[in-house]
Parts: sequence; structure tokens; C-alpha cells
Amino acid sequence: MKREILIVDDQKGVRRLLEELFKRDGWTVYVASDGKEAVEKVDAFLPKIILMDMKMPNMNGLEASQKILERHGDSYILMMTAYGEMDVKKKALDVGVKKCITKPFDIMYLRELVNQAIMEDIS
Ligand SMILES: [Mg+2]
Repeated sequence: MKREILIVDDQKGVRRLLEELFKRDGWTVYVASDGKEAVEKVDAFLPKIILMDMKMPNMNGLEASQKILERHGDSYILMMTAYGEMDVKKKALDVGVKKCITKPFDIMYLRELVNQAIMEDIS
């Protein structure tokens, strides 16, 4: 399968960190800084996996996930939420987000989740 991933976060530092991590692992990495841009990038590049921040300007991660999944139902979205956003987590899973990870997280754990996602996709 194609190792293409879209990283969506309004914080430049987070985008950069994750971009470096996945590039080092051989992924083709796309980035977006808000939900609106994320929807556009998914339409353009159809990445297999999307790491989606929740809180962002213009369009938040929940709304963006909903729009993406309406159009590309096989997208694997992993949502990055802040501590305590339990209601958001539930809503995200309801719209079809596959997994949620609470910020701040260990990036090696995130990497592990992404690798698991690929395995799930193969089997
Ligand atoms: Mg944010």
C-alpha cells in the first residue's frame, strides 16, 4: 500500500515534528494547518492515513473529519484531542474516526498506532 500520510495541526511545531518523524520512516507526508485545508489536501492527494488535530481555526478537526469521510469513506483518521475532551472523542468516533490520541502524547506511541493502522489495512 502507498505510505502517504496527511498531518493536520494549526501548530507549526507539531506539524514539523510529525513530518520529520514520518519522512524518516519513508512516508510521503502532506501537511495542512486547518480543517479546510485538510479537506482540500485529501481531495487532491487521497492519503491513506490522516492525523487530525481537533482544535483549529476555520474548520475544526471534527467537522473536517466528517467532510472527509463523506467523500472518502475508507480514510483512516486518527484524531489528536486535548486532555478531557471526552465528548469530542465520542463524537469523533461516531462520525467514523478510527482512533483518538490525547495530547500531549509520546510520538513513538503515535508512530506505533500508525504502523498498527497499516497492518489493519492489510489484513
Ligand atoms: Mg490545535
